Amino acid sequence: MSIKSNIAYIQELKTAAAEKSGRNGDDVLLVAVTKLHGPEEINEAIDAGITDIGENKVQEIMDKYEKVKPVRWHLIGHLQTNKVKYIIDKVSMIHSVDSLRLAKEIDKRAGQHQRTMDILVQINAAEEESKFGITTAETDALIRDIAAECPHIRIKGLMCIAPYFEDPDDARTYFAAVKKIYDQYAENRSENIDFQYLSMGMTNDFEVAVEEGSNLIRVGTAIFGYRDYRSEEK
Ligand SMILES: *Cc1c(COP(=O)(O)O)cnc(C)c1O
Repeated sequence: MSIKSNIAYIQELKTAAAEKSGRNGDDVLLVAVTKLHGPEEINEAIDAGITDIGENKVQEIMDKYEKVKPVRWHLIGHLQTNKVKYIIDKVSMIHSVDSLRLAKEIDKRAGQHQRTMDILVQINAAEEESKFGITTAETDALIRDIAAECPHIRIKGLMCIAPYFEDPDDARTYFAAVKKIYDQYAENRSENIDFQYLSMGMTNDFEVAVEEGSNLIRVGTAIFGYRDYRSEEK
């Protein structure tokens, strides 16, 4: 299967899932996750209509940025505060904000670049040890603190990575829990709390995530095939 036909197939499944939840396929943004894939494959995806790509490492964004056609970049992986400065002028949105300390650094660097950075707050809904993100109980306090202390940040929504289940139906309760928090904010907008994105769903579980209300899916493997982690350089 080519990248182009994989994308077409995912768009079809995405549309079917969106319609199940009373929406259109166009209401759900497909972010192609390009980690460990090279500029050539990424440009092929862009030629096939991809407008947004996601990377989970700062270094990969730096390495590929000049070689990839114009596209919106999303930082979807854990971000260390000392690396914010490298990507602040490159990415459209940071999905992985899970502390006030990180938010303050993003705010400071965004201010230096005279821009406002769109961010999502990452929730670790199943409270897995192996994952970053805050608990559902901590979410309100973090959103309030960021909104109060970070004038160069706009909080655009929430991101969640569900636990891996053989049967993605088992992830439903976690997606639903995050959707519930999302809805509360989506109805109560303010100057820098402007919810628009609920980033949930990957190759294994994006259909379930969309059925539960996700409007941004992050899909890598189903577009580009399996990643070769052995070739990863540290
Ligand atoms: C790698 C990654 C994805 C995509 O995962 P696939 O299973 O390949 O679709 C999505 N979100 C994050 C945060 C990732 O790191």
